[in-house]
Amino acid sequence: MASNNAKPSVSPQITSIFHQASRDGRQLVERLLRQNGESLDWIDDLRQLQGRYLEKSPQKAQRDCSAGCPACCMTAQVDATPIEAIAVSEYLRAYLEPDELYAVKARLTRVTKLREAQLNAQAPQRPLACGLLGMDGKCTVYPVRPVVCSGVFSLNQNECRKAEREAKAGDFSQSIPLDNEAIQATGGISGSLQRVLVEHGLDGNLYELSSAVLVAIQIPDCLERFLNREDIFKNAICTDAHSPPRKRIVPAPKFLRRPASRPA
Ligand code: SF4
Ligand code: SF4
Repeated sequence: MASNNAKPSVSPQITSIFHQASRDGRQLVERLLRQNGESLDWIDDLRQLQGRYLEKSPQKAQRDCSAGCPACCMTAQVDATPIEAIAVSEYLRAYLEPDELYAVKARLTRVTKLREAQLNAQAPQRPLACGLLGMDGKCTVYPVRPVVCSGVFSLNQNECRKAEREAKAGDFSQSIPLDNEAIQATGGISGSLQRVLVEHGLDGNLYELSSAVLVAIQIPDCLERFLNREDIFKNAICTDAHSPPRKRIVPAPKFLRRPASRPA
């Protein structure tokens, strides 16, 4: 994955990929909700759907990403839905040794405090490494990383490193050439995940990843409580509040809900 600052151009063909991925994502999330499955199943199924789109991208051969190339994880802020954060927390609890888990929790706590300080303008705006990035430069939750992490591919590794250097100096404006089709498919799937959660009265807001995983990891029955509509992410950093329980939705006035055509 890479910097949030990149602005890919969007052709009609790429827009249609976004819409198709949105439709497929909606069907999948509706089914997952009916099945009431575990969050690791959710992330597996979302990843499978996303993988089919990523395979088809005409820019696949030009991707320049490789394992242990962490500039993006050191620079970009990753936002995720509650479901994705819960899946990461379940994976950490299931697969990490106690001392590893302790170290990850400490990193997540540190990153969350620094982000809060930046948000409150008590600390300078500098890139913060993701709290889930390992000391070896690899993602500690690679199989269950959020959809956005697995859907962003740079076409030039050097540009990612340059963007990281510039961001450390306070300039976040660098753009990176990206696999556009992969981004559009990823945006479609992520967007439909948020929308369907909201339509079912669940929390479909976006949260800064480290802070959300830190919350989820401390609640063993997190998915069950989330599906029971408990507001368990109230202490995470919400980066896109577009629905309850973070944002009150004001219904449209009655006259806007009437049919557009006048009665004869
Ligand atoms: S090339 Fe860029 S986007 Fe790809 S893994 Fe490396 S830093 Fe991340
Ligand atoms: S979750 Fe993994 S891939 Fe995503 S930003 Fe964090 S370390 Fe990188």
